[in-house]
Amino acid sequence: MAYLSDKIGSQGGIYKRYSRFLEKLEIITFEDFLYHIPARYQDFSIVSKIASIQEGETVTVKGVVKSIKNEYTRRGFIIQKAKVEDETGIINVIWFNQPYIPKSIREGEEISLSGKAEKRENTLQLTSPDFEPIIDGVTIHTGRLVPVYPETRGVSSKWIRRQIYKLFKENKDEMMDFLPDTLRKKYNFDSLYASLFKIHFPNTLGEAEKAKQRLSFDELFLIQLSSDIRRKEWKEKLKGTGFKIDKNMPKINKFIEKLPFILTSAQKKAVEDILHDLSSNKPMNRLLQGDVGSGKTVVAGVAMYTAHLNGFQSVIMAPTEILANQHYKTISSLLKPFGLKIELRTSSSKNKTLDNGHLTFDILVGTHAVIHKGVSFKKLGLVIIDEQHRFGVEQRGIIRKKGGNPHVLTMTATPIPRTIALTLYGDLDLSTLYEMPKGRRVVKTWLVPNEKREKAYAWIKKHIDENKGQVFIICPFIEESESMATVKAAVGEYERLKKNVFNGYKIALLHGKLKSKEKEEILSNFKNKIMQILVATPVVEVGIDIPGADIIIIETAERFGLAQLHQLRGRVGRSERQSYCMLFTDSNSPYALKRLKALEQTNIGAELAELDLKLRGPGEIYGTEQSGRGYLKIASFSDLTLIEQTKKEAQNFANKLNKFPMLVQKVEEINVKNISPD
Ligand code: ADP
Ligand code: MG
Repeated sequence: MAYLSDKIGSQGGIYKRYSRFLEKLEIITFEDFLYHIPARYQDFSIVSKIASIQEGETVTVKGVVKSIKNEYTRRGFIIQKAKVEDETGIINVIWFNQPYIPKSIREGEEISLSGKAEKRENTLQLTSPDFEPIIDGVTIHTGRLVPVYPETRGVSSKWIRRQIYKLFKENKDEMMDFLPDTLRKKYNFDSLYASLFKIHFPNTLGEAEKAKQRLSFDELFLIQLSSDIRRKEWKEKLKGTGFKIDKNMPKINKFIEKLPFILTSAQKKAVEDILHDLSSNKPMNRLLQGDVGSGKTVVAGVAMYTAHLNGFQSVIMAPTEILANQHYKTISSLLKPFGLKIELRTSSSKNKTLDNGHLTFDILVGTHAVIHKGVSFKKLGLVIIDEQHRFGVEQRGIIRKKGGNPHVLTMTATPIPRTIALTLYGDLDLSTLYEMPKGRRVVKTWLVPNEKREKAYAWIKKHIDENKGQVFIICPFIEESESMATVKAAVGEYERLKKNVFNGYKIALLHGKLKSKEKEEILSNFKNKIMQILVATPVVEVGIDIPGADIIIIETAERFGLAQLHQLRGRVGRSERQSYCMLFTDSNSPYALKRLKALEQTNIGAELAELDLKLRGPGEIYGTEQSGRGYLKIASFSDLTLIEQTKKEAQNFANKLNKFPMLVQKVEEINVKNISPD
């Protein structure tokens, strides 16, 4: 017998074989089985005597097998025929092409069968019912509400059900309740064991719902506690270096005055928050959130300049090479005039000057990947993580280990609904750039159905001719990560557009499989207006800055989340010219169209994110990368009430946690899960 905490793959035989499939369902340990929550329940709860079965009913019959055999039809099929008897009568049972069934059921055995009763040649029969032997009077696959699980190739619901039931019998002692009694009483929850049991094997849907409430509470409560504790540790235990702000304020002000624009009030407020954090010897741990184009980079620039004035190095990390290059240029133009030495580090840039094994720079710009690999710092004071939409507790953890407890600023353009911010970023302080720089115009957005496609192309050509416009075309969405299939489709689309639509225009293609040098060249040609149209795969870097681009076409718009579309739309509208976004779609679904219409109506990322959360759930907002990791297994991000409730309770308990050792252990398990790299 295994322990709940054992890895399934560590057990022999069938478990070892199945563990590969189970990983796809994020079932790694036996305990994960318990938290593999049914997607729905099949109602086999009507148990009927054979004599009273009605045609068309879905029923469960319990009786003794009188006969069972395989029969070969003239066409070469094998059917399985059985007769089952109870004290009221006999019913025929039939299955198709499952020759192993007669081997698994013996004549004289008591079995339970659930399925639909049909009339054939004037007699009732059960066709392809689920079945199981009745052992100790208990059934799990028939005769009740039967849990139906998310499945994957090679793993059926029936098999999962059996494993889970076995755990309830064999591992009951390990399902101890970690939730403090006071909370259990306050919310009138069942014990952990009972709740887990009832979510898998409820007698009524109401029971399942009640169990789900308790388990959702657990899940959110533990996440909140864990982030609360992390936040406390960060605030109480970590000692960093407080920068001198007052003394340097004249220089900082001068830097801000010399900018080619005036900071928005939101930017000023964010700078103020950040300078305040930097002045403390508790390391900053702040999230700067702001729509695409809201001007986060310059805020980061002020922070890095401040670090420099205090004799510290900064590092700024971007998710892709293109963005790192772009930051390198922007930050160089901002800060080189003030005497800072800026260095670029990506997988294709050469190693630069080393001084005793240290790179000599004031600011290091690079990709996440590269900086994680052996860069050492002389005196690192500030780390900036840009466009981080991964839930990056782990990354913040790794950076902390780079020494000296540097201040950390995370920046994201993905609008984060409040409930998600509270849950996932509970350990961060938050600054929001809630307004756009002056003079920006709202990007006009149109939903373009298929029949208007040609007209739209004609309009775009005219716009290019008359206004020197520049166009992004985002290829159809195929899958989340850029595989060869995506690239091939993009090449096809590019050829089609070049030949049939934009014949005679200067058109280029950008996709993820190009070498970074090629990408750079294509982007710089587009930026310098040598190219008029850039066809790109959907992964086109968030955050690339091409001020001249004023039209974006997004193909198969219905396949994207609203927040993703909003980010893509943010590629245009970066100058004072009017820009346009055209959402192409073949979809006729009123639901899809209504969703897309929201983009015509609002330009505020946060609103779209909230709407998307309501309509499609969190996975869709962040793409499968996150949903694949199944951040919430049971609870829902839409449940603001529960999220606020658990947050409050977590704050209560964070101070007296040492009185609840089982809770402590549970929270530690969560921390390990969150912080371990993928
Ligand atoms: P994001 O928040 O998406 O990273 P950026 O920092 O790239 O946005 O800024 C977008 C553009 O806006 C840049 O060209 C930048 O120079 C410009 N910008 C930033 N702040 C202001 C401002 N207060 N007024 C005018 N333009 C600004
Ligand atoms: Mg940016």
